[in-house]
Amino acid sequence: MPFDPPFLPHPSSETPLEITQHWESRRRNFYLIASLAGLPSILAVWLQHRADNPFIALAYPFLILAGIFWSAALLWKRIPLAWIERSVLTAVSLLFLGKLIYLWFLVPDPAHVWNEVEAVYWVIAILLIISHIALDRRAALGFSIALLLLTTLSGAWRFWHGPATLGVEFIRLEVRLVAISFLLFVLARTKDDFSRTLAAANQMHQIAHTDSLTHLPNRRGLTQRLEDYLARRRPFTIILADVDRFKLINDTFGHEIGDIILREVGECLQRQIRAEDVLGRWGGEEFLILATEEEAQSALHLAQRLCEAIETYGFDQNIPVTASFGVTLSREHDTFVSVIKRADLALYRAKNNGRNRVEWEAP
Ligand code: GH3
Ligand code: MG
Ligand code: MG
Repeated sequence: MPFDPPFLPHPSSETPLEITQHWESRRRNFYLIASLAGLPSILAVWLQHRADNPFIALAYPFLILAGIFWSAALLWKRIPLAWIERSVLTAVSLLFLGKLIYLWFLVPDPAHVWNEVEAVYWVIAILLIISHIALDRRAALGFSIALLLLTTLSGAWRFWHGPATLGVEFIRLEVRLVAISFLLFVLARTKDDFSRTLAAANQMHQIAHTDSLTHLPNRRGLTQRLEDYLARRRPFTIILADVDRFKLINDTFGHEIGDIILREVGECLQRQIRAEDVLGRWGGEEFLILATEEEAQSALHLAQRLCEAIETYGFDQNIPVTASFGVTLSREHDTFVSVIKRADLALYRAKNNGRNRVEWEAP
């Protein structure tokens, strides 16, 4: 039996889905570092100013508690990152807008606390940045406009009749915020383009790695999974299955029934293997199974079970279908080509020895 020219494995590269996942885990780490760095400084400010600043005395304990809660949520990965991001943005924005209102309207002369006003404006700038990382562009734009409007209106109200020098200082702070927002908006457009490209690439990747008839991984998908298995450096089982006399089934019942049988063979095999095992269509009427069995006996046992499952499966129109199986285990220094070659040799022997049977090729 001719050995198909190997489908040359391409160097392992990140799939689009992996890029998406890495971006999320990077964000998680970034927030964790930020909250680990932020919590002690918030605590320090609270300890230092709780006697002389009623806002810090009241609000910062909540901020510290929320920070601890968010850090725990970041570590406990079951809570979706988007929820954490949105709740942090909302809570911190409300808190610091509250502080700004307090500074504008409850402090007799804001000029005396101008460093605090500056600090609030920096926090708002950071919130604008985080909103563009966490939210999509439209939501981030809405969030930025809302923050800009609230700060501008409250400040304008306060300084309308106030001293001109403070008014100028206030305008300077606002202009800085607007400039930052504009820059972020431009960057967000680029990020959006990138996200769209990534989503399209995800879809293309999925299509390119899936067989359209059986919806199982195709040869390209299997090649990648096999490379992953080889990289793990643990023994695993490779089973190559080929439907017996399939040409006859096509000739007797027609190509369309042949297609249905192929789909059913995939379903039958899938039911027999574990969720973490891999089943794919290697090509034509050949299927490849990668399983975690590490010993010859259990590998053979699995292949035998697959062989019996096909023989006894109720196929369309009760057409009798059998398949032959070639089994091998991976060994150290195996390559993509060498494992497939052994499984193929075993399969060849199964065909020669009468079909509907399992043969083994020692690693
Ligand atoms: P053997 O027991 O030696 O494997 O005999 P066989 O007839 O199964 O093997 P052969 O290689 O001679 O024929 C394989 C057939 O599978 C020929 C081909 O038309 C058919 N085939 C390959 N892909 C498909 C497909 O997607 N749909 C259908 N219906 N038939 C297919
Ligand atoms: Mg074949
Ligand atoms: Mg065949």
